[in-house]
Amino acid sequence: MKLIFLGAPGAGKGTQAEFVCKELSIPAISTGAIIRAALKNQTELGKKAESYMKSGALVPDEVVIEIIKERLSEDDCKNGFLLDGFPRTVVQAEALEGMGIEIDRVVNIVLGDDVIIDRLTNRRVCEGCGATYHLISLPSKDNVHCDKCGKKLILRKDDEPETVVNRLKIYHEQTQPLEDFYAKKNKLINIDGKRELKAVTADILAALKG
Ligand code: AMP
Repeated sequence: MKLIFLGAPGAGKGTQAEFVCKELSIPAISTGAIIRAALKNQTELGKKAESYMKSGALVPDEVVIEIIKERLSEDDCKNGFLLDGFPRTVVQAEALEGMGIEIDRVVNIVLGDDVIIDRLTNRRVCEGCGATYHLISLPSKDNVHCDKCGKKLILRKDDEPETVVNRLKIYHEQTQPLEDFYAKKNKLINIDGKRELKAVTADILAALKG
């Protein structure tokens, strides 16, 4: 199955993607994670993306399109994949079509901006393995270190409050039009994201099987 997860930053796409991919045995592909790894390793791509990412702006379409093209040509994508964080603009969605890729379903995790702001500013990620926590609703044992690998938890630069507001603005302007884009193709499934993680996962899986 070829899936896209749509939704504002902080809607829980990454966490849900992990569960759903395990269930469906397909790889989760996050352009954000690919770019963050490139930034950490200071590759050419990382250097190109750094300033955009830190301010919460989108990395230019041609850069992310190239990343996705390469990633989707790898062997593990042959039987399907889940795209988390791509496409984020209509240009990117059209590029995906241009690659001859037929997406089966687009899951749109719907959440209000107030909830998103709370989630992102309280989100902490492990600087070692990338695991995600929330200071209140999904804390690690001591809220300082990762339960999985013991490394320190940090606030992502782009989760700082003023950056979050900017990311939401960009989301509404540039990414939300994709809801219409995929609704017109009868591919959009709206899921209420303001509930327990497990309830949201169950809804997504049921909708995908239905
Ligand atoms: P994410 O982890 O998906 O929230 O992505 C973090 C950041 O990576 C975004 O704020 C953008 O700067 C960049 N990024 C990730 N995916 C894309 C995309 N499809 N188009 C443009 N920029 C992206």
